[in-house]
Amino acid sequence: MDDQEIIELFRENEFKVTAQRLAICKFIISREDHPSADQIYQELKIDYPTISLGTIYKTLDLLEKLGIIQKLGFNEGSIRYDPDMELHINVVCSNCGKIYDYKAENVKKLWSDIISDLGIKPKGQRIDIYYECDDCKERN
Ligand SMILES: [Zn+2]
Ligand SMILES: [Zn+2]
Repeated sequence: MDDQEIIELFRENEFKVTAQRLAICKFIISREDHPSADQIYQELKIDYPTISLGTIYKTLDLLEKLGIIQKLGFNEGSIRYDPDMELHINVVCSNCGKIYDYKAENVKKLWSDIISDLGIKPKGQRIDIYYECDDCKERN
């Protein structure tokens, strides 16, 4: 997605395009590590010193409504944001919370079989695998 596409999507949905909203949107879609709102805030405030955590949360909610990102809530209460809306597997370290994506083509095929068996139109999907990453293994 380039700037223009983002701006158009905002306008089509009657959301105001501000420099901060655009920056948050570009930041999240460029990231594969599923950052939290706080991480986004810490990194963006370097270039946008007036940005607030509230603006980050509101904009992320908006982007979720627009179908650009998914919100991933975890049991221990953390929320992470994922710009990949296609079917994929989130590989999550249950210790430090590091997440990376794994794309499995054969899972896609299986998934579409499951969906057609169910006869439903899914509004979203999420597959997580939990493990202990190498960094955490070394530390313990
Ligand atoms: Zn993901
Ligand atoms: Zn870890």
